[in-house]
Amino acid sequence: MAAEMMDVSDTEKGSSIASEEVLGDIEEEECCFQDIVLLLEHGISADDIKKLQEIGINTVKGIQMTTKKRLLEIKGYDEVKINKIKEACTKVSLSTGFITAFEVADQRKQVFKLSTGSKSLDKLLGGGIESMSITEVFGEFGTGKTQLSHTLCVTAQMPGCNGYLGGKVVFIDTENTFRPTRLQAIANRFNLDPTTVLHNILYARAYNSEHQYELLRNVAAKFHEEAGVFKLLIIDSIMALFRVDYTGRGEIADRQQKLAQMLSRLKKISEEYNVAVFITNQITADLTHINQPDIKKPVGGNILAHATTTRVSLYKGIDGIRIAKIYGSPDLEENETMFSITSGGIDDVKN
Ligand code: ATP
Ligand code: MG
Repeated sequence: MAAEMMDVSDTEKGSSIASEEVLGDIEEEECCFQDIVLLLEHGISADDIKKLQEIGINTVKGIQMTTKKRLLEIKGYDEVKINKIKEACTKVSLSTGFITAFEVADQRKQVFKLSTGSKSLDKLLGGGIESMSITEVFGEFGTGKTQLSHTLCVTAQMPGCNGYLGGKVVFIDTENTFRPTRLQAIANRFNLDPTTVLHNILYARAYNSEHQYELLRNVAAKFHEEAGVFKLLIIDSIMALFRVDYTGRGEIADRQQKLAQMLSRLKKISEEYNVAVFITNQITADLTHINQPDIKKPVGGNILAHATTTRVSLYKGIDGIRIAKIYGSPDLEENETMFSITSGGIDDVKN
């Protein structure tokens, strides 16, 4: 099933999908999300549907992915109403919740992979950054997390393997390190029109961890509104604001609970809208190795470790080279590779 990305460096000038025309085709092709307004025909009121939309639930699948406990938090919702809504969802989706493994394999065919800009890094990742899952890169300052985020903003707009046509990107910036000038340089490397590339990226600055969570509701609404058009959601970095907002020792449990909610929302978005979610993360000293202060681990603890599908650790090597190591993946072996940061973004190490 593994879809290898095309050799992005071979892209012909003008063959980029970064045009409104092609994005229009994608929209038509993939407009198959079951909107919750369909529930109107099954006795659910417009008012109840509006309340779901207000908390970022726009599709039948979105309701099915949300627990009763969460739905009970909606004003005016009780157990009877929720059961009625869940029943209506089953009628609309005609699904009992079980599908055959063959159908799973069929659904997995929709999964696409985005190139990192480096063929060796793509190979390490089994083809690139995968949709319907969360990929996390972590490492110390200057290891290339933000540069990789910028490169993906551009490569996500280019055609790839398995019929991938490219699409738009949402970038949530928590550290104020998003730089359009970097995107323009990367677009030039791939012979894409820099202005079009910039038009295809929606940017939001998150100012605190609650704001970061709230922005995801807008993201879901946008992905729903322009169904099938967005292919990548980036958060650079996932933990920075949590580390500022929760500083006391006694606040860790609260922080982890809020983090779990955010990651659950991210996971739902990735599966519901078939997008790749790419997050960056920081590292901290690993106190389980108290005598070896050099041993570092990503922040966010087990909550983050369990929520992400693929974790990649980035290191600095000699002569400016960077090293990427797969940290934990359900279907990739632990391995590492080298890459470099260039003016055109992430690239292979040139001999
Ligand atoms: P932090 O944890 O501080 O956010 P980071 O992992 O996000 O760090 P990046 O900003 O992605 O780090 O990478 C910084 C590195 O990228 C620096 O070594 C810098 O020299 C390199 N870099 C930035 N711009 C360019 C460029 N135009 N050409 C070549 N290298 C660049
Ligand atoms: Mg950074």
